[in-house]
Amino acid sequence: LVELTGVNKHFGALHVLRDINLTVHKGEVLVVVGPSGSGKSTLCRAINRLETIDEGEIRVDGNPLPGEGRGLAKLRAEVGMVFQSFNLFAHKTVLDNVTLGPRKVRRASKKDAETEALALLRRVGVEDQARKMPAQLSGGQQQRVAIARALAMHPKVMLFDEPTSALDPEMVNEVLDAMVALTKEGMTMIVVTHEMGFARKAADRVVFMADGQIVEEADPDTFFTAPQSERAKDFLSKIL
Ligand code: ATP
Ligand code: MG
Repeated sequence: LVELTGVNKHFGALHVLRDINLTVHKGEVLVVVGPSGSGKSTLCRAINRLETIDEGEIRVDGNPLPGEGRGLAKLRAEVGMVFQSFNLFAHKTVLDNVTLGPRKVRRASKKDAETEALALLRRVGVEDQARKMPAQLSGGQQQRVAIARALAMHPKVMLFDEPTSALDPEMVNEVLDAMVALTKEGMTMIVVTHEMGFARKAADRVVFMADGQIVEEADPDTFFTAPQSERAKDFLSKIL
């Protein structure tokens, strides 16, 4: 469903993505781990075309990423993204945050968009917050709204870039639980996270990045119990 072939990206002299080859199949949950600065966010942003790449090809559902305009809006709908910082529209209610995309991009009616939005908010456990403004919600609640908002676009794949790392510890699990529920519904997901419990429980495959390269790729059991490279061993010794 998502295919990266020979992807390279530089920021000036810095080679942030080095010859990345990666395929994520439909229904698969890929967890990406690695030290700070290894290129994990850049990889996610490239798949959503928030960053351009210098070389190589990225395909989503068989189609190369579009350049501009309408194709790009379609891609952003197909590839849902949830970031570390809660990026809800601050001056719109929770419900409006979730219905805005479907109404604009899919031309859904207000009524249909709201019915579906409420169902999605219920799925992530924040239906009772629908009429509030984002600032009135806890971080964990806001992040679950962000998940509902992405789902409202009927994405083919969801990207999560450290969705829990800005949260107070007691809120981490409510967000991870919503993500685990999504995996069980068969959603294709790429998740950058330091939550190794989630990786072990939910990942079909773990990719370890360092210095812009994919250094290791394995099923979670193998990766956590028998990492092959020194870089991965060193990384795991610091976080486990
Ligand atoms: P973290 O775990 O800290 O989030 P990361 O693996 O997500 O790190 P990236 O954010 O992808 O890493 O950054 C990879 C490298 O690219 C870093 O050295 C970073 O400083 C650099 N970088 C990222 N964005 C830009 C930018 N817009 N311009 C220049 N350099 C950038
Ligand atoms: Mg990052």
